[in-house]
Amino acid sequence: MKTTVRLDDSIAEVLIEADVLQDRVKELGARLSVLYKDSVPILVGVLKGAAPFLVDLMRAMPIPLQVEFMAVSSYGRNTQHSGVVRILMDLVVGIEGRDVLIVEDIVDTGLTLDYLRSYLENQNPRSLRIVALLDKVEARRVAVPLDYVGFQIPNEFVVGYGLDLAEQYRNLPYIGILKALAVAEALRS
Ligand code: 5GP
Repeated sequence: MKTTVRLDDSIAEVLIEADVLQDRVKELGARLSVLYKDSVPILVGVLKGAAPFLVDLMRAMPIPLQVEFMAVSSYGRNTQHSGVVRILMDLVVGIEGRDVLIVEDIVDTGLTLDYLRSYLENQNPRSLRIVALLDKVEARRVAVPLDYVGFQIPNEFVVGYGLDLAEQYRNLPYIGILKALAVAEALRS
């Protein structure tokens, strides 16, 4: 008989439980709703990792807003940043004169956001802010001004709530650290 594979079995430690994540996202949504109460901000979600965060965040913001997406290159099948950032999918709307909020899943070296920030800044938005769910402060290689952060986390590779390893584990409702065996298997397959 075939045994069912459960994602939970690959997790060594749950770093942030699902209900804790949800509570914090609601708090961030409430604060951002006050900040943007007089404008219609554009939330720019960075695919694919920020998708669950963006969806929960926008539902915690009961104000008029617009949602757009960009995709940038990530680690691919590795857990180390290559240092090169590429835009895989660009915005399909203009942002000149608009209040823009970049919604990012995690800031590690800061290279991705540093690039994205200056790329969007060059398009002359009225304001440009960043909200990141997770911040690995110790891993930073370039300073990026983060306006709002959900949680500061240790310098560990994490998965879940949008974050992947080799495109898997995004559907976990919590943030966790993988068992070494699961990492080895994902990188091999
Ligand atoms: P940075 O450019 O700041 O080094 O990395 C940003 C991107 O790298 C994130 O948007 C995310 O896609 C990926 N990343 C960084 N740290 C982690 C991690 O711990 N786990 C996963 N799954 N992705 C990460």
